[in-house]
Amino acid sequence: MPTQQLKKFVIDIPDFPKKGIIFKDITTLLKNGEKFRVVVDSIVKKFKTKKIDAIVSIEARGFIVGSVVAYKLGIGIIPVRKKGKLPYLKYSVTYDLEYGTDTLEIHQDAFKKGARVLIVDDLLATGGTAQAVIKLIKKAGGEVAGLAFIIELLPLKGRDKLKGYPVYSLIKDRYC
Ligand code: AMP
Repeated sequence: MPTQQLKKFVIDIPDFPKKGIIFKDITTLLKNGEKFRVVVDSIVKKFKTKKIDAIVSIEARGFIVGSVVAYKLGIGIIPVRKKGKLPYLKYSVTYDLEYGTDTLEIHQDAFKKGARVLIVDDLLATGGTAQAVIKLIKKAGGEVAGLAFIIELLPLKGRDKLKGYPVYSLIKDRYC
């Protein structure tokens, strides 16, 4: 199944969480077992020969897909969380949002030095979050082997911030 056909299972919610944002709601996609399997299997197929050592996923929707991808690849999953949620020694990266900043964290002992890491998240918008996660992975001694997203918002050109890394998205969305 061409993954672009999954687009009809993503619902546009205007003005959520605030006015002017069109929120891409994936709950309709996730509750459809057959389509959820297409999402996971497509990412696994794309990266299974790339010698991935670990999955890094981003709170919270990233965990849903990232954990199943990790299970299927037979590797572990490492959470990247918002500031203050991880209990042990951690690295932090603060990055700019449209209004203000945000901080993401990863545990310092997340993986072995040189580990090849695949980042999995639900959506690529401006690419700021993905860029911050790349910095965290480098701080923790890992190598970014690729990034996988369910949805890519094409007009925001997030991919341009991720030059040099393999970026895979299942649904290209021109409306945001
Ligand atoms: P960005 O850093 O701009 O690439 O934003 C990506 C992160 O913000 C992802 O973790 C998404 O879950 C979330 N996000 C950004 N824009 C949207 C949107 N329109 N709908 C749903 N989630 C979004």
